[in-house]
Amino acid sequence: MPSLSIHRNDTVKVLTGADRGKTQRVLRVFPDKGTVLVEHVRMIKKTVSSKTGKRTKGGIADQESPINISNVALVCATCGTARVGFKKEGTSRLRVCKRCGSELPTKK
Ligand SMILES: [Zn+2]
Repeated sequence: MPSLSIHRNDTVKVLTGADRGKTQRVLRVFPDKGTVLVEHVRMIKKTVSSKTGKRTKGGIADQESPINISNVALVCATCGTARVGFKKEGTSRLRVCKRCGSELPTKK
């Protein structure tokens, strides 16, 4: 599996589409599809059906839909949008910003 430069809970900037310029948190990464789910980005109306056993009403809810990973950029605290590179440290690979060299830590 190719390792992606964007992880869950990263802060990313949206580069294309209606939500361009938004800086939001990554909710989910789909490595096999190469897409990410970003908070409040590409909101769609989704019909929610009422579930049996639960007293939730069916209706329409706003929900994020995945966007291509190439349409977002990881945010670097120093330069804005980071160009992600990797640095080996022991057994782990650290993500670094290629422009300023600062580490891009993975949030838990
Ligand atoms: Zn940087």
